[in-house]
Amino acid sequence: MKFVSTRDSKNKYSLSDAIKLGLAADGGLFVPEQLPKYNIGDFDGLHEIDKIAYEFLLPFFRGDDLESDLNSICLDTFNFPIPLTNVNDKMALLELYHGPTGAFKDIGARFLARCFERMNKKITILVATSGDTGSAVASAFHKLENIKVIILFPRGKISEFQESQLTCWDDNILSLKVNGDFDDCQRIVKEAFNNEEQKEKYQLSSANSINIGRLLPQCVYYVASSLWYFREHGCKPSYIIPVGNMGNSLACIWVRSMGFPIDEIILTSNANRVIPDYFSSGKYEPRESMETLANAMDVGAPSNFERFRHLNQESEIELRSYSISDYEIKQTIKEVFLKWDLIICPHTATAFAIGKQLVNDRILVATAHPSKFKDIVQPLVNREVVFPKNIEHFITTSSSFGEIQASLEDLYSQIDPFVEN
Ligand SMILES: *Cc1c(COP(=O)(O)O)cnc(C)c1O
Repeated sequence: MKFVSTRDSKNKYSLSDAIKLGLAADGGLFVPEQLPKYNIGDFDGLHEIDKIAYEFLLPFFRGDDLESDLNSICLDTFNFPIPLTNVNDKMALLELYHGPTGAFKDIGARFLARCFERMNKKITILVATSGDTGSAVASAFHKLENIKVIILFPRGKISEFQESQLTCWDDNILSLKVNGDFDDCQRIVKEAFNNEEQKEKYQLSSANSINIGRLLPQCVYYVASSLWYFREHGCKPSYIIPVGNMGNSLACIWVRSMGFPIDEIILTSNANRVIPDYFSSGKYEPRESMETLANAMDVGAPSNFERFRHLNQESEIELRSYSISDYEIKQTIKEVFLKWDLIICPHTATAFAIGKQLVNDRILVATAHPSKFKDIVQPLVNREVVFPKNIEHFITTSSSFGEIQASLEDLYSQIDPFVEN
């Protein structure tokens, strides 16, 4: 399969090139030239998610240098549970938070890391993070050969726990605390990618959420869970998905278009309401983001919207979307605990706020483990929220990081010695 830019379908790229480049030269996002179509029957007899992953992803990898590695990439990525648990007889929870850093981003980041690893070239990954992405990327790339990772995070703008998740690495991971805010971090990363000479010298690549190598594995859990649900209940579930940059939800939209048994798709945002507003007014109006309790969804210009629009041009996509306030998030966390004895994170709460009112068969998508947001969740449920074993070690591991001013020169001064040795 070949991949094209959302802005120009003439130039075709291999999957490996699309992954390496991250973004097309014209600034567009990579999409498959055409989404393949599947029959549910193709998956008969397949139950485990790593097997379903291979069957589903093979058409995207056909003809690429990575095709022969796909099976082992799937085995290495999907090596922790992704359970679909029943909340009641018509409502299930897709738990995407059992990976090493407790958020769904682990899945995309692990898959992408394994793709880069198998390309067998020296590369330097550069990412800016405001929280979850950086730790998922660090964990996914840690100790991989030939790959160095540099993570920029803003001083004093992330929680203590998030900071410990970013600074507990060594070896091939360099975390840099930037004297500035998240926008400064992103600006430095952009500048670094715009400097062709240095980009070539360090073989810079990106691991941010618009990389097609993160989006494809995210499709897998929608494929698997829709099949599991359909087999068990005999009907198509709807999905309710917390939305930020729209990567997680776009995967679900693609999967439904490719023929999997999915009924309605409902996107829930926090008070940042660009997506709900688009679906009620038909106008896409990006704006400054504001801070909410579900901070991984504090996005004012969803980066995957361009992919959504690209698909929507071919055939109009049916969707609903709602904005959930911080007050509703808190009320929902309390209510879900009282009613179902479930502790959920603030992001997952946006999905529950809508999902609890529906009556049809539905799957609510849980994007992070509640312990990552202990400070918010614990007082609401009045119960200790414990760290699960897989993410516990972040609290105790000693910290290592560098510090820079918010300038490209300062970044280069740190990259040089790190990449050389
Ligand atoms: C990143 C993130 C989201 C938003 O996902 P998008 O793919 O950006 O829409 C939601 N919840 C959590 C916990 C996240 O880390």
